[in-house]
Amino acid sequence: MTALKAQTAVSPTDEAETLAKAAERHLIQPWPSAGEIGDEARGLIGSGDGIYVTDAEGNRLIDGPAGMWCVNVGHRRRELADALHEQAMALSYNSPWYTMNEPSALLAERIAGHAPGDLNHVFFTTGGSSAVESALRFMQFYNNVRGRPQKKTILSRDGAYHGSTYLSASLNGSSRGRDWMDIADDLVVKLSCPDPFRRPLDMSIEEFSDMLVEEFADAVKRIGAENIGAFVGEPVMASGGVIVPPPNYLPRIAAICRENDILYISDEVVTAFGRMGDVFASKDVFGIEPDIITFAKGVTSGYFPLGGMVVSDRLFAELRQSNHADAMYAHGLTYSSHPIGCAVALKNLDILEGGLLEHAREVGVYFMEQLKTLEELDLVGEVRGTGLMACIECVADRESKNPLTLDTEVGRRIDQHCQELGLLLRPLIHMCVMSPPLIITKEQIDEMVAILREGISRTMEDLR
Ligand code: PLP
Repeated sequence: MTALKAQTAVSPTDEAETLAKAAERHLIQPWPSAGEIGDEARGLIGSGDGIYVTDAEGNRLIDGPAGMWCVNVGHRRRELADALHEQAMALSYNSPWYTMNEPSALLAERIAGHAPGDLNHVFFTTGGSSAVESALRFMQFYNNVRGRPQKKTILSRDGAYHGSTYLSASLNGSSRGRDWMDIADDLVVKLSCPDPFRRPLDMSIEEFSDMLVEEFADAVKRIGAENIGAFVGEPVMASGGVIVPPPNYLPRIAAICRENDILYISDEVVTAFGRMGDVFASKDVFGIEPDIITFAKGVTSGYFPLGGMVVSDRLFAELRQSNHADAMYAHGLTYSSHPIGCAVALKNLDILEGGLLEHAREVGVYFMEQLKTLEELDLVGEVRGTGLMACIECVADRESKNPLTLDTEVGRRIDQHCQELGLLLRPLIHMCVMSPPLIITKEQIDEMVAILREGISRTMEDLR
């Protein structure tokens, strides 16, 4: 193979072109538009190491979004590769229907140890969508068993992202994901996005928070608590643009849920496993004890597709005390409790517990401080975030905060300039989102911010 390559002198660029052609002809990428479906290749990433990835031309780029908020411990970790290999050689798969494996039992115990309150029971899935889907189906099952089959409405929020399966996608708050796709509209009620930056201009943050809580309480009254099964919320809305809610908003929503016997499902697919400096952010960062937490991504740092949900003792006790011992939570996946995924997650947790959580907490503060300096640039309306997740939101005019008169490709333009300078971002229309691997150092943060400053300045030149 190598000899043939040498003979025919295949350059990395030739190889990339061949791969692009194969992809255009045969590979369906996620979220394709009808105009491009079946005719699209995306930028090739050849390898990764630490916080860096290398593209088809051999350029080394800082992996700004850590893949998709997931490569928390960084690329090319020997420990994870070894764990994966060793588990594949010991037991590559077993059916979770009739049997169980060692890594899944150990991992469930470790995760329960980190989860807040009485959240002690872990169900493993293949990723975030299936985790949210599992939690919603569990809520339906729970209410059916408890003899309240009408208690199924789900409260979600504009700007939310919870997945790409039917029920989880029905919770998503951006019109882009709903315009051309069928969703379970009858089951979901959307509330306002808790985005302090986009609050009414004359409103304080406290008044904004009051308004959101009042809206929530009104929705409960209007729909009737007896008809609402769950509220599902990301502690920090990730794909919606790293929306950090007003202080105290989440605990107040949690209290209303508890008073009205509405399950609080905290979607920690992004925020768990170190992104905010703790294994789970719900309690440690936001002071809430949900009934169910969903997780994925960082649980294996993206080295293996795995997700799951942690469910409280209280719900399990209620199910066991019901009169329906024969009722079945008829839900499970061939790859639930996958031994390789769980073995990788155990090693990943070792790394997080072995000092990386502390490091993430420390550099997270520095990361935000340094990024905030970009607010000096005219194009930047706000830099926001917490932990190692941040968003730069661009505006046409700082007074009105109006993003609409902007060139709508502004996020992509910044990303393109930054890529030329050595940084990969996640552009979202007029925003750029970042969530680098947690191993990032202060020096690397400086490098990242310098590139961003130059990339945004070049974009400002383009728009003149
Ligand atoms: N929930 C949240 C908060 C997410 O950000 C995502 C994906 O980005 C999902 C769920 C869906 O996860 P997955 O893409 O692994 O199915």
